[in-house]
Amino acid sequence: MQNFMSIALLSAAIMVLGACGSANIAAPVPSILPPPISNPATNAQTPIERFGALSVTGNRITDSQGRPIALSGMSHFWSNTGYGQEGLYNPQVVQYLSENWNASLFRAAMGADEKGSYLDEPEANLKRAQNVVDAAIEIGAYVILDFHSHHAHEYPEKAVDFFTQMAKKYGDKPNVIYEIYNEPLDSADWARDVKPYSQRLISTIRAIDPDNLIIVGSPRWSQDVDIVAKDPIVGYDNIAYTMHFYAGTHGDELRAKTEIALQAGLAIFVTEWGTINANGDGDVAHESVEKWTKFMDKHCLSNANWAVSNKAEGASMFKPDTSQSGPWSESDLTESGKVVREIVRNGTRICE
Ligand code: MG
Repeated sequence: MQNFMSIALLSAAIMVLGACGSANIAAPVPSILPPPISNPATNAQTPIERFGALSVTGNRITDSQGRPIALSGMSHFWSNTGYGQEGLYNPQVVQYLSENWNASLFRAAMGADEKGSYLDEPEANLKRAQNVVDAAIEIGAYVILDFHSHHAHEYPEKAVDFFTQMAKKYGDKPNVIYEIYNEPLDSADWARDVKPYSQRLISTIRAIDPDNLIIVGSPRWSQDVDIVAKDPIVGYDNIAYTMHFYAGTHGDELRAKTEIALQAGLAIFVTEWGTINANGDGDVAHESVEKWTKFMDKHCLSNANWAVSNKAEGASMFKPDTSQSGPWSESDLTESGKVVREIVRNGTRICE
């Protein structure tokens, strides 16, 4: 904020000087500098301008200058037709979160599981995901293309088809991050199921896009990063692994697993987290949220909160019946929405 104010004041001063220098008519000298005329968002640097293309360096996500960074923002809800949150796959909510929440990161959770998903309605779901991706690119933010499935290794050809299209379309955009498997279930085995699937998808994407970040899921709803750490994927650059937590359910045990993975050299990216229980509902677990926020700060973990939603459940950032097209105000936010807004507002940074 201080930086912006200095830039705004400097711009205003330059504008005043410029006006005086370019015209012979005597302009009244203002006793104080006028307020900036343009929108603050047009003066401030976008996340892409600030950080550029992302890489993985050791166990950190780094920017184009090699600095470790953390991004922070929001995940959309399942895009499935009939789930009620399709209407929020729009540019207005991306702009609102960017301007009002200082979000640098978005996640298009393209449903690729259950009814009304990419599996049976590919065009509609692809369109929704692209609405969010295009809006994020437009405003210079980062965006995760998430194949939102619990069973993706059972139909890898669907994922291959999806990511082939997306890599061709967005592979030259530094904004885009590929998340190839949201949450494998505990019935999926890393070595038998998830690792071979991930290798196939990485190979597919890398044949088209040599460099954008790819994020890999792990068994047990993307919690068993310690198991992955013993047998990571090798031979490719810019591979990170996701860890998902829900503050009302998860605590020390999952933080310990995450530290094992970090110590083994894995870069961890929190593509989904909640303030509430793992089923997406319940009250905000304030104390646990605070512990998790400190943990993410300590380890420089980028994060996207679940969810951009007005469904009647604890995880939603909007209250039920809130407009899905905006404009939005403070009174539209749930308890979770208010807590998360503060975290997201302060979450994007260069780490020590
Ligand atoms: Mg690329």
